[in-house]
Amino acid sequence: MEASTADCLFCKIVAKEVPATVVRETGTALAFRDINPQAPTHVLVIPKEHHPTAAELAAASPALLADVITLAAEVAAEEGVGESGYRIVFNTGAHAGQTVFHVHAHLLGGRGLEWPPG
Ligand code: IMP
Repeated sequence: MEASTADCLFCKIVAKEVPATVVRETGTALAFRDINPQAPTHVLVIPKEHHPTAAELAAASPALLADVITLAAEVAAEEGVGESGYRIVFNTGAHAGQTVFHVHAHLLGGRGLEWPPG
């Protein structure tokens, strides 16, 4: 998988070519606020490397997927939702509503979240 793609919105956020409200950054991953939040805490956590989906990331680099989930948990704690609970969602493909094909974990918390999701 190439490190980034020229037409990828989230690669542009990693490169600081598109602005974002970054909440935390590591050497391998970036956490920034979703532009259209669906919960009081709604942060997107991405690997800096370009991989389209969670499954493709897991196949290419399991350690990088672990970095993403670890960073999501750290952000959850910082946002004060670590104790009350939170959801990590990887939408994959059209039926799940994936619109950006640079894998991203949605970290959602700060309110009761319904199950099953819509
Ligand atoms: P998906 O539908 O699971 O692919 O999620 C894409 C998410 O990216 C959506 O929740 C959008 O609100 C969010 N989004 C799109 N553009 C931006 C942006 O420029 N900054 C932050 N979030 C964005």
